[in-house]
Amino acid sequence: MRRFRKTPTGTTATKTMQTRIDALEEIYQAFELETAPYRSGAACESGCAFCCRDAGRIDCTTLEGLRIRDRIRKMPRPRQLGLKKALKRDMQKREAGLPSPCPFLMKNNACMIYPARPFACRRIYSLHRCTHDHPPLISRQVMAIAENTIAALQRLDDNGYSAHLSYILHMLDTPRFLATYRAGDFKPEEIMAFGKTHRVAINRMVVTPSASPPT
Ligand code: SF4
Repeated sequence: MRRFRKTPTGTTATKTMQTRIDALEEIYQAFELETAPYRSGAACESGCAFCCRDAGRIDCTTLEGLRIRDRIRKMPRPRQLGLKKALKRDMQKREAGLPSPCPFLMKNNACMIYPARPFACRRIYSLHRCTHDHPPLISRQVMAIAENTIAALQRLDDNGYSAHLSYILHMLDTPRFLATYRAGDFKPEEIMAFGKTHRVAINRMVVTPSASPPT
């Protein structure tokens, strides 16, 4: 089993973003390794995008969102513009209570940002083939490890937030918020109104000190 670096509270400003993104990758890898024995019987197969179309909320942390944003910015301009519209449409549909497939899902059922997909997507698999009557079936052990992993991701992003990925990407597109976040500063008052309306969690407040990271 691998141990990832712990993020001591209060030292965020001294860490470079790249160091934190590297730590993100370590957390993902630790989860993969620790859950591999329980996922070996998964019914998931290439081309099935059930979770991307029907799983509902796909949360991510601000740090995960920053990594996705960097990936989007390397895409051709027309695709970037198309995504911007798709993300906006996703927020509008959610606010109207309508189902909305993930904006990153392509027509061939592939994920546009697969290497940078957030943990919410990495944690999902199913022990049976999913249908509307049979949503993903995940082992209890994997769910427990995933809870610890989420706590570790929130600790790593201790000047950040968690929310559905379209909202996190929207926040990161706001110059003032981005500048505050990149500087390692923490000003929840900047997003207070938006956060209340869109169920944005403050990572520093939701992290439970007793949650132990995967080892
Ligand atoms: S980010 Fe990718 S893997 Fe995750 S729900 Fe969207 S299309 Fe699916």
